[in-house]
Amino acid sequence: PKTLRFILGDQLNHKHSWFKGDQDHIIYHMAEMRQETDYVKHHIQKVVAFFQAMREFAEWLEDKGMQVEYYRFRESENTHDLTKNLKQLIKKHDIEKFEYLAPDEYRLDQQLKEFCKSLDIEWEGYDTEHFFTKRKDVEKYFEGKKRMTMEYFYRDMRKKHDIMIEGDKEPEGGKWNYDKSNRNKWNGDTDIPKEKGFRKDVSEIVDMLEEEGVKTFGRIDKTNFNWPTSRADALKVLNYFCDNLLVHFGDYQDAMHTDEEYLYHSRVSFALNSKMLHPREVIDKVVDKWREDNRKIDISQVEGFVRQILGWREFMRGVYWKEMPSYARCNKLDNQYDLPEFYWTGETDMNCLKHSINNSLDNAYAHHIQRLMITGNYALLTQTHPDQVCDWYLGVYIDAIEWVEITNTRGMSQWADGGIVATKPYVSSGSYINQMSNYCKGCKYKVSKKNAEEDACPFNSLYWNFLDDKQEFFKNNQRMNMMLSTLNKMNKDKLERHKNRANDVIKNPGKY
Ligand code: FAD
Ligand code: SF4
Repeated sequence: PKTLRFILGDQLNHKHSWFKGDQDHIIYHMAEMRQETDYVKHHIQKVVAFFQAMREFAEWLEDKGMQVEYYRFRESENTHDLTKNLKQLIKKHDIEKFEYLAPDEYRLDQQLKEFCKSLDIEWEGYDTEHFFTKRKDVEKYFEGKKRMTMEYFYRDMRKKHDIMIEGDKEPEGGKWNYDKSNRNKWNGDTDIPKEKGFRKDVSEIVDMLEEEGVKTFGRIDKTNFNWPTSRADALKVLNYFCDNLLVHFGDYQDAMHTDEEYLYHSRVSFALNSKMLHPREVIDKVVDKWREDNRKIDISQVEGFVRQILGWREFMRGVYWKEMPSYARCNKLDNQYDLPEFYWTGETDMNCLKHSINNSLDNAYAHHIQRLMITGNYALLTQTHPDQVCDWYLGVYIDAIEWVEITNTRGMSQWADGGIVATKPYVSSGSYINQMSNYCKGCKYKVSKKNAEEDACPFNSLYWNFLDDKQEFFKNNQRMNMMLSTLNKMNKDKLERHKNRANDVIKNPGKY
C-alpha cells in the first residue's frame, strides 16, 4: 500500500530497519513546527540543532533515493500542527497506510495515538530501535520490589548485554562500581584537549527564527555552530572523546572549573537523544578503545561512562514510562517559590551560579554536576516550584527531551517524586562546591563563613533552613539521619540567624 511514514526531530536513526529494503510506495515526512518550538521556551541553540539535524537527515534520505516531504518552517503548506500536516499529506498523496515511530515523549505519544484513532486508513506504530530496553521493561524489572535501585538494574544490564563481563557473569576488573575513585577536583594539572567543534554556519535558521518571532533565549555564534548535526559529526565527537577525553572521564566526572566548561565530558548527549548515535555503538566504541590500548586507561574511567549510558539513561526512561503522566505534576516537598530571574540572565554575584548559568546560556550545555549540585541544588534549597525548575531545564539544554529531563530534574535533582529516583535529596552547603571546584576562590561570598554573616556563602544558610523546613519529609529516611541530627544539635540562635538569612535570599534573589 502507498504508505506515509512520519519521523520526529529526535528520531534520526540512520540504522533503522525502515530504511532497508523496498522503498517504493513510501513517502517520509518531517516538519519544522511551531507546535515544537513553542511548547516551552527553548535555548536558541537547541532549536537550531534540531532543525539543522533534521534537514541533514532528510538530505541523507533523499540522497539514498527516498521520497521525502520535508516541511521547512516557512513552507506555505506547513500548518505547524502535527496532525493537520499529516491529514493534509494523506489526502494529497492518496495514502493507504500511515506509519510512525513510537515517540519518547508522552505528549507526542498521546497526540499520535489520538490521531491514529481518527484515521479511516490502516496504521502501524514501530519501535525506534534505539534503546536497550523497551518502555515498560524497567517497570517489569522492579515489579514487587520495594524500591527501584538503579545499581541492581545496571548490573543485570551488564550481564544481559555482556558488557565488560568476565567468565561466569562476573564484572571485569572484579568490581561493578568504581564511583569512589571518580571524585577528584581538577586543579589544572592534566591537559584538557579542546572540545571537538564543527564551526558550522547556521545563520539561515537563526535569522528565520528571529524573523518569524519564535521566542528563544540563550546565546549563539551563528557562523560557528558547535554541535554535531549529522551522523558523520556525531561519530567525530565520539571518536574524539575516546581518543582524548576518556582517559580522565571518571577522575574528573564531578569536578567543576571556571576555565573549563566541558572538562572530560563527552558531549554526546544531543547525538544520542536525537538518535544519530546508538547507545550500544557508543558503549562498544569506548570499551573497544580501552581494550585496544591494552587497558592503559584505568577501568574506572570506562566503567563510569558505561554506567551513565547503560544504567542511568535506560533507568530514567523506564521511570518516565512507569510514572507518566502524574510525574509531570509531582511536588512532594510542596515547594512554591518562583525561579529567580537570574537563571535567564546569569546576573548574580554567587560565582558558582554565575558560571554554571552562563555556561548554559553560552553553550546550551552544563555538565552533570553543574546541573545537579549548582543550579539544581540552589533551586531545591530555595524551595522553587518544580514546574518552573523543569521549564528552565527543558528549555536550556541541547539534550533536553522530556523523558530524560524530567526524571533528572524532578526526580534526581528536586526530589519532587518523593524518592523514586534518588534515595535522598541532593543538597549541600558551600563546602561541597568548594571541595569540587575553584568557584569559591573568585566569589564575593566567603564559603568558610558559617554563621550567617553578611558576606557568608548563601548556600550555608539555605542548607540548614531547608533541612529545618522540610525535616518532616525525611524523619524516617535513614540516609538523612546524620544531617538531621547535626541540625537538631544546632544552637537555636544560630539556626534562627541561618533561617533569617536564608529567607532573605529566597525572597530577594536579585540582591545576591
Ligand atoms: P557525559 O558526562 O559525557 O555522560 C555520557 C552520557 O551518559 C550522556 O551523554 C548521557 O547520555 C548519559 N548520562 C549521564 N548522566 C545521565 C543521567 N543522569 N541520566 C540520563 N543519562 C545520563 N541528560 C539529558 O540527556 N537530557 C536532559 O535533559 C538532562 N537534564 C538533566 C537535568 C538535571 C537537573 C540533571 C542533574 C541532569 C540532567 N541530564 C540530562 C543528565 C546529564 O547531566 C547529561 O546527560 C550530561 O550532562 C550530558 O553531557 P555529556 O554528553 O557530556 O555527558
Ligand atoms: Fe557559590 Fe558560596 Fe562558593 Fe560563592 S562561596 S561560589 S556562592 S558556594
